[in-house]
Amino acid sequence: MSANGYRRILLKLSGEVLMGDQSFGIDPETVARVAEEVKAAKDTGLEICLVIGGGNIFRGVAGASKGMDRAQADYMGMLATVMNALAMQNALEQIGVQTRVQSAIEMDKVCEPVIRRRAERHLEKGRIVIFAAGVGAPYFTTDSGAALRAAEMKCDALLKGTSVDGVYDADPKKVPTAKRYDTLTYDRVLADNLKVMDASAVALCRDNEIPIVVFSIREQGNILKVLDGTGVSTVVKSEGK
Ligand code: UDP
Repeated sequence: MSANGYRRILLKLSGEVLMGDQSFGIDPETVARVAEEVKAAKDTGLEICLVIGGGNIFRGVAGASKGMDRAQADYMGMLATVMNALAMQNALEQIGVQTRVQSAIEMDKVCEPVIRRRAERHLEKGRIVIFAAGVGAPYFTTDSGAALRAAEMKCDALLKGTSVDGVYDADPKKVPTAKRYDTLTYDRVLADNLKVMDASAVALCRDNEIPIVVFSIREQGNILKVLDGTGVSTVVKSEGK
């Protein structure tokens, strides 16, 4: 169990985390570094479910903005998340961490389908379960996939690793005086349209009382720091919790 009482977490990483300094795709050295961090978190005794986005390869909205059919583009985005899941599985297994990939779009040559009870068993056996292809439907994102899996796997928290160290009242890259929140309520995030995760993902976490911890994955060692309570993050939760 972590210092903040978590026994099982869902870690959501955006696809961009895997591209390192590249502007596109998968950088194996970066994937290896992130895998080391995930292993360090697991070595504390936590059970870990992992969801990785696909934005480093393809995003449905980007395709749609250039004239593609949105649903078709979204299916391509979902396939991108499977590639990232396989890359992360490879990196984790190279350092001795047992994993299973479960995809919401069935692909039995490369991974398992999503089967909750089987995922449960993998976690009990100390494996990391990487959930790919989001919720398996277009018009959603992997944030919604992460919230859904966090709920069905009864995770104690959803940790969202991004390129910024929390949620700000303005874009910190553009506004130097932007202020970072330590905590926020789900309702405030939704009412103010703060860019934490998409609204459906935030609502699902709210309805299931799953705290969302937003932190920077770019800073080395940060997953562990966030878990032991010394890292910088913004925690989204219910009033008074
Ligand atoms: N996607 C989808 N349904 C899902 C999950 C993902 O259609 O349940 C598609 C969507 O096109 C999305 C892309 O997959 O843009 C990549 O996922 P996402 O944008 O969430 O990746 P991230 O921004 O986290 O890298």
